[in-house]
Amino acid sequence: MYLVDSHCHLDALDYTEQHTDLNSVLTAAKQRDVKSCLAVSTTLPGFQALKKMVAGHQNIFLSCGVHPLNLDEVYQPETLLALAADSQVVALGETGLDYYYQQDNIPLQQECFRQHIQVGRQLNKPVIVHTRDARADTLSILKEERAEECRGVLHCFTEDIDTAQQLLDIGFYISFSGIVTFRNAEALREVARYVPLDRMLIETDSPYLAPVPHRGKENQPAYVRDVAEYLAVLKGVELETLAEVTTNNFSQLFKVTL
Ligand SMILES: [Zn+2]
Ligand SMILES: [Zn+2]
Repeated sequence: MYLVDSHCHLDALDYTEQHTDLNSVLTAAKQRDVKSCLAVSTTLPGFQALKKMVAGHQNIFLSCGVHPLNLDEVYQPETLLALAADSQVVALGETGLDYYYQQDNIPLQQECFRQHIQVGRQLNKPVIVHTRDARADTLSILKEERAEECRGVLHCFTEDIDTAQQLLDIGFYISFSGIVTFRNAEALREVARYVPLDRMLIETDSPYLAPVPHRGKENQPAYVRDVAEYLAVLKGVELETLAEVTTNNFSQLFKVTL
């Protein structure tokens, strides 16, 4: 079986108490058949550090981008384009809009989100989209910037069925995290039942949002298996099937061979 964690923050894990180094994180993941992951960056200096961190490791892919909550540090669009052109970079992001944690820079968030999509189209690489309390603006910007041309994924999906449908309509994938296993997440489980298997990705968003039964602990790529097991039951398929389909989806969207 081959599972992929389509979204994790390897540079934010606890390497003092939880893990000795990246090798130990990846070994723990492999023991649960999680054989590949996408290391997502949230700032451009962070991207460069992440690239050094994963150098020499097999099947670790990178995204390049600036998270909507990290826009206090100014960056140049040309720098984003130059860094994202790297052959190890399979996606732009994470980018998007977060009106839940920050409302004093909405025009800036929107401008940077548009830039990421434009660079994604220019390089023909998909975008990894983060959205919180910004459903309508996220959808309109994706459509206005013709994100269907580079495609992408709405990561850590917590929106409704209508939003999922609009994203499916523009060729996007929907990624489910450990939130789907939470006791109070029935509305999200409805969305997961609705989204077709061939457009579904799985992720940890580690170190955040550890799935049941690891809640309260630091999340890590190994735990994407718990998300997979849960979704397999929800979708009424074998775990092996869910693994195969989501891993194929990952290869398709990010144009990688696993
Ligand atoms: Zn996010
Ligand atoms: Zn993230």
